[in-house]
Amino acid sequence: MKYRSMGALACLLLAVPAVAQAQPAGEVRAAVQAATPQLQAWRRDLHQHPELGGEERRTADIVARQLRALGLQPRTGIAGTGVAAVLKGGRPGPKILIRADMDALPVREETGLPYASQVTASYRGQQVGVMHACGHDAHVAILLGVAQALAARRDSLPGGVMFVFQPAEEGPAVAGADFGAKLMLDEGLLRDFQPDAAFGLHVWAGLQVGQIGYKAGPLLASADEWSLTVTGKQTHGSRPWDGVDPITVGAQVLLGTQSMIARQINIAQTPVVLTAGQFNSGVRFNIIPDQATLVGTLRTFDPKVREDVIARFDRIATDYAHAAGASAVLKVINNAPATINDPALSAKVRPSLEKVAGADKVVEMPLQTIAEDFSQFANRVPGFYFLVGSTGVGIDPAQAPANHSPRFLLDEAALANGMAAMLQVTTDYLEAGAAR
Ligand SMILES: [Zn+2]
Ligand SMILES: [Zn+2]
Repeated sequence: MKYRSMGALACLLLAVPAVAQAQPAGEVRAAVQAATPQLQAWRRDLHQHPELGGEERRTADIVARQLRALGLQPRTGIAGTGVAAVLKGGRPGPKILIRADMDALPVREETGLPYASQVTASYRGQQVGVMHACGHDAHVAILLGVAQALAARRDSLPGGVMFVFQPAEEGPAVAGADFGAKLMLDEGLLRDFQPDAAFGLHVWAGLQVGQIGYKAGPLLASADEWSLTVTGKQTHGSRPWDGVDPITVGAQVLLGTQSMIARQINIAQTPVVLTAGQFNSGVRFNIIPDQATLVGTLRTFDPKVREDVIARFDRIATDYAHAAGASAVLKVINNAPATINDPALSAKVRPSLEKVAGADKVVEMPLQTIAEDFSQFANRVPGFYFLVGSTGVGIDPAQAPANHSPRFLLDEAALANGMAAMLQVTTDYLEAGAAR
């Protein structure tokens, strides 16, 4: 990773007082250098011992122990395995929340790393391999590093920082339970601590190590899980006129949704994706069954568009079913709202990212149709979420195994880069707020 010490110096000479008090990149660099061996050790240990969403007991114990070693008093067991601790700075200033997610995925690791996961677990009735295939092991290590660096200068630190170690970002291991961020908030995470801003990051295979990606405004999609149940009337497969075929109705509704998006939604304004991942019905080739169920995901970037698409989907389902003499029930559960970076906060943060990564390495991302429940925090207070490149030099990020792949391979330089970026962003924010 390149550090722009000249850039930082120019910034100090030219800047207005609020910026001049921002933490110099040199201090961040020193803190990150000191922490780097520890970051790697934490991350490798977590990588070898991944835990599924809601089951991050060992991870949470390590986190809580480390936070206590820093002199903090972590709250544990929030939303099951969540951990949070508040660091009070010695000077008045703003309050912020920094979040890391802790959970791994039901993926059997194929990286061949010496510290690759051998862990297996039961996941929704199946025995599966467990792997940190999304890199949340790195997120935990990075946030522990940031906590350590901020705690070391607590007397001179303005404001306060809540470190949030969240379970189940990928969803709970048990079907039907809520995702971790919402659960933590529902359990009163912010009852006694109201942050002025929330920050989060993700290591990202789609970017080269050293690069940092972000986008002001919507960055990641809202993810809804939908299920459609079509009820018809069972009959012999040779005599469809005696019954009502729910399979044809389900197929018509599904195609109707695709026409609706293409013909009724202004996709030049904001993209919409509606996918069915399961279509289940029947037991035998010559029986028209009673019922068909479709299950899928809806991705949107604008809360109003989301509402509109769901209303149209519901109308299509009801009307198509009615036309065939069947009935249809649509259920939609929101797993994560869209992750929207506060535009003013994004503008404020960009110079901090440039300070640590170099201006040419800070890239504006296109919309990503994946989702993240960091949005639950960013929906309450201005939030900023960014991506940290994790694909090693010499490998094309476009060809590299993506996050969630069994061959997802994190270049560990991303640990220092992620810590430097988060530390610079958050300390600059706190110092700027204190100076006002
Ligand atoms: Zn993921
Ligand atoms: Zn993830």
